[in-house]
Amino acid sequence: MSPAVSIVVPIYNEFDNLIALVDRIDAAMRSQPLSYELIAVDDGSKDDSAKRLLELAATRPWLRPVILARNYGQSSALQAGFDRVQGRYVVTLDADLQNEPDDIPLLLNRLETDPSVDMVSGWRKDRQDAAISRKLPSKIANRLISNATGVQLHDYGCALKAYRRHIIDRVHLYGELHRFIPSLARDAGARITEVPVRHHARTAGVSKYGIDRTFRVILDLILMVFLMRYRQRPLHAFGGLGLWLATPGFLILAYLFIVKLMGESIGGRPLLIIGVMLVLMGMTFVAAGLIGELLTRIYYESGGGRQYYADDYVIDETGDAPRMV
Ligand code: UDP
Ligand code: MG
Repeated sequence: MSPAVSIVVPIYNEFDNLIALVDRIDAAMRSQPLSYELIAVDDGSKDDSAKRLLELAATRPWLRPVILARNYGQSSALQAGFDRVQGRYVVTLDADLQNEPDDIPLLLNRLETDPSVDMVSGWRKDRQDAAISRKLPSKIANRLISNATGVQLHDYGCALKAYRRHIIDRVHLYGELHRFIPSLARDAGARITEVPVRHHARTAGVSKYGIDRTFRVILDLILMVFLMRYRQRPLHAFGGLGLWLATPGFLILAYLFIVKLMGESIGGRPLLIIGVMLVLMGMTFVAAGLIGELLTRIYYESGGGRQYYADDYVIDETGDAPRMV
C-alpha cells in the first residue's frame, strides 16, 4: 500500500548530516499516525553521500534513495523526488538539519484538519543565518517576489513545506525555480498558508550558495512574472510594448515627412534617428510577440500544455458534503 506522506530531501555533499537526518525524520514521523516514505535525492554529491544513503536504506524500508547522474541543482533534485512521490501529502525539507524534523507533524496536521489549505509553508521567524549576507538579501527577495507574483509570504525561502499531492503534480521545477515554489503553486491553484517553524544554524557541511546568485534570482523573477501573466498571450506583452514604441516613432517620421515636403532639409536632425529607432524597435518587439504566439500555439496544441487546472466534485446519494474526485 502507498504511504500517506512522501518526504523529499535534496542532498548535495551532506555526508555528515545523513544519519541524523534520516533518524530524526523517522522519530518525528513515528510520533504521528500517517505512514510515510523518505525520498532522499542525491544530487551528484562529490562526497560519499550516495554510498551512505544506500547503506542506510539497507535496513530502512521507508527510505528510497534516488541517485542523480551528476549535480543538476536543487530544483532538479526536488523535481526528481516529486516525479516519484506516492503519498497524498508531500513534504520537503533541507538535508542539513537547519529545518527541524519535529516540525513536520505540525505541517501535516494542518493539512489533515484544514480542508481550506493545500500548502503549508514554513516561516523561519527566528532564522539562524548570517544577517548581512543571507537574511537581508532574502528579506528584499521576499518583498520583490511577493509584490511581483501577488503571493504574499514572509518567508519564500524556507525549504520546509507541506503540500497536497495534486499541487506537486502540477508544478514543474528547473533552473532556480525552487525559490518560487509558492508562486508556481498559487498559479496551479494552491491555497497557501504560513506556519512558524524552528530554524537552526548549520552544524555540519557548508552552504552551497553565496551572494552571487542574486542576479540569477532576479532573471528568474522576470521569467516568473512573465509566465504568470503572459504565458497564454505573449503577443499582449511584446506586441503592446512594440506598439508603444512604434507609434510615437511613426508620428515623428510623419512629422519629418511633412517638414521635408515643405522643402526643408531633415538630414541632420536627431529626431530622425530617434524616429527610425523607435519604429525598428517596435517592429522587433511585435515580431518577438508573434514568435511567442507560435510557441504558445505549439505548446497547447501538441497536447502537453495545460491551459488550466480544475477540481471536479461529486455529490453522492448519502447526502454528504460534495467531495473532490
Ligand atoms: N542542494 C542540492 N543541490 C545543489 C545545492 C544544494 O541538492 O546543487 C541541497 C543541499 O544539500 C541542501 C539544500 O539543497 O539540502 C539547500 O542547500 P544549502 O543548505 O546549501 O542552502 P542554504 O540553506 O544555505 O540556502
Ligand atoms: Mg541550508
